Amino acid sequence: MFLTDMTWPRVRDLDRAIPVVLPIAAVEQHGHHLPLATDSLLLAEVVRRAERRLPDGALFAPLQWLGNSHHHIDFPGSMSASPRVYLDLLQDMAETFLRHGFTRILFLNGHGGNVIPAKQAIFEMRQRLRERDDLVLLFTSYWNLADPQNGQFTQPEIGHAGEWETSMMLRIAPHLIEGDPSLLESVSPALGFEPAYRGWTTRERSKTGHIGSPQLATEAKGEHLLATFADGVAAFLERMRESGGGAPV
Ligand SMILES: [Zn+2]
Repeated sequence: MFLTDMTWPRVRDLDRAIPVVLPIAAVEQHGHHLPLATDSLLLAEVVRRAERRLPDGALFAPLQWLGNSHHHIDFPGSMSASPRVYLDLLQDMAETFLRHGFTRILFLNGHGGNVIPAKQAIFEMRQRLRERDDLVLLFTSYWNLADPQNGQFTQPEIGHAGEWETSMMLRIAPHLIEGDPSLLESVSPALGFEPAYRGWTTRERSKTGHIGSPQLATEAKGEHLLATFADGVAAFLERMRESGGGAPV
């Protein structure tokens, strides 16, 4: 069920153990061919499909489109909350639900730049609320909940405006794709200095803004990705529902 469709008395009457999903995405450059809202559009589609699979099994908050995208800010149109502002914003979003008695909260992410601040946000919240034994505070990106590899994909992971995201956009919003993605070239995901983690900006990794291989995208791959990820989200929410609260599962 979607929070924004409900009255407050209906929310008041919900079981407090229902998983509360906070979808978090971004509005940022996605190369020459995909729109700025790509991450938000794709996460919204995954959420829409997952909600249909368990209509009464989870409470979905509205998608937060502003993400931590400072690494894309050199590309016009990209919008970003700086990491510390973003971290506080996420904590306020989650604490609203805690204040109303909900105990199981999942940040469902659709943008790589949100990963570090969102993990920090829930880690800090857990320390602040350390006396509580009933809380389950979780973060995941939707692409981590199911493995779509079926031998068709060249990219091993989601990348940025590459094979995976371009395929999904071909499936849900082909009218927003500019030019012919099949003419684009691969951009390597390597950061250099592996296995160390390197501070980076997109500008130094990609001239166009994409990372990966958008020329390999197809609508059929997009449908497979979206269906797989929606199944993964729904299965994970079932797992949250069945968990006994604070104990590891
Ligand atoms: Zn993206």
